[in-house]
Amino acid sequence: MKDLLTKRGDKVERKGKKNIKGIRIRTMNYGMILAACILYAMVIYATVRLSVGYKDLSEAVDHQIECMQAAALVTDGSDYLTMKVRLYVATAELQQVEDYFTELHVTKRRDRAVEELERYNDNQEIHRFLEMALEKSNDLMKREVYAMRLVAAAVGQDMEKMPPEVREVELTAEDQKLDSEEKLDKAQEMVFGSAYQDAKALITTNISYFIENVEEATRLKQVQSAQILEHSMVRQRIYISILFVLNIVTFVMVIMLIVKPLQIYIRCIREDKMLEIAGSYEFKYLALTYNDIYEVNVANEAMLRHKAEHDPLTGVINRGGFDQVSQILKVQKQPLALLLIDVDKFKQVNDGYGHETGDLVLKKVAGLLRDNFRSKDYVARLGGDEFAVLMVETDPQQEGMIREKVENINHILTNPQDGLPVVSLSVGVAFSGDGFTDDLYRNSDSALYQVKEHGRCGCDFYRG
Ligand code: GH3
Ligand code: MG
Repeated sequence: MKDLLTKRGDKVERKGKKNIKGIRIRTMNYGMILAACILYAMVIYATVRLSVGYKDLSEAVDHQIECMQAAALVTDGSDYLTMKVRLYVATAELQQVEDYFTELHVTKRRDRAVEELERYNDNQEIHRFLEMALEKSNDLMKREVYAMRLVAAAVGQDMEKMPPEVREVELTAEDQKLDSEEKLDKAQEMVFGSAYQDAKALITTNISYFIENVEEATRLKQVQSAQILEHSMVRQRIYISILFVLNIVTFVMVIMLIVKPLQIYIRCIREDKMLEIAGSYEFKYLALTYNDIYEVNVANEAMLRHKAEHDPLTGVINRGGFDQVSQILKVQKQPLALLLIDVDKFKQVNDGYGHETGDLVLKKVAGLLRDNFRSKDYVARLGGDEFAVLMVETDPQQEGMIREKVENINHILTNPQDGLPVVSLSVGVAFSGDGFTDDLYRNSDSALYQVKEHGRCGCDFYRG
């Protein structure tokens, strides 16, 4: 029934489900999870490299400190022995000898230093210098012990009180012949003379080499470790930045693929429209499925509405449909004409020709009304043999035209060419300049009554 009753939501362009193009949320999800896993693994790797670099650096520093301590121990130990032997040569005090050998056998500063460095296996080349210093120091010891033996012989020391290392020293035949004074002089020459100083210098030189090499090795290690640290930190920064971008991309994708289409769908459903095809593959598929169901529902609804609003016998709108149109035209304040139509003496048709012929006559009347009035006018069967025509945009100036139409219809009905019985219509007409009103219906009815009263077959206009 015309535009007024069938207006529904706008149609949205449809596509076949097979041709849906769009990003699948599932695929995007797997992609994001994979990318995140790879990036997290890379961040962890960079972190491990970072801690390895840091460990190397601190080990290098520890090694340097221990090397310096070892160098100090060897120097201190060697200097202590020198000091003790010199004191003994100068004073012949037995205590100095005891201190000397206590350092050698108990305190063992020089041996301890070399032992401590042994755990740094990869630096053996550098440690050689410290071992050389120790060897030189040991070489010097023979000279020192010999000097002690000379002093002991010179001062007539009780040899039983002397340590076995000194006791066991055999003086050369030449030195045995020297007197006490000469023995003391020789002993002093041995530990204070230039030969002794040269040997000491050799120890110092080796220790200096050792320290220089340690410093160089540590510096190299520090540079390497610093490079590893820097590379790892740069990598970590890059990976974290990519992770950040990945997160932002995920948020944007969620908005574009999920949130936006949901908002669009909610709006479409509220406005009773078909869904716009938007968002991810899954949402597009959902929209197309929804639209299919929507179309079927709209068609079913239209069919049910048509049934509810139309008269099954004549096909024109029924009383219910007429009431709906009246309601709508009550709101649209436009000039109208209402024709109330009744078939004259219709009972006689039924009685004389039978109910089925009566039905055919009713159909014929409805068809004539439809044909003679405009398509925008509403033709309705209000019940039994009673019809109505609601003419839109019509004012009293069209009275003549309406009369002509009625006369034309009555002319056809009274001169049937189709074998149906002769019938005629009585028509009451009223106008309204203000849309459909209760008065309009009453006035038409009153005009119809007048026609029936004055011989039927014709039309009358309500004059007020
Ligand atoms: P009047 O000129 O005063 O209108 O006389 P009338 O005989 O037409 O009287 P009325 O309008 O009251 O009669 C209507 C008749 O229409 C009564 C009923 O038997 C008949 N009728 C109602 N519905 C149908 C229908 O669906 N088919 C047929 N064939 N007849 C119907
Ligand atoms: Mg009648």
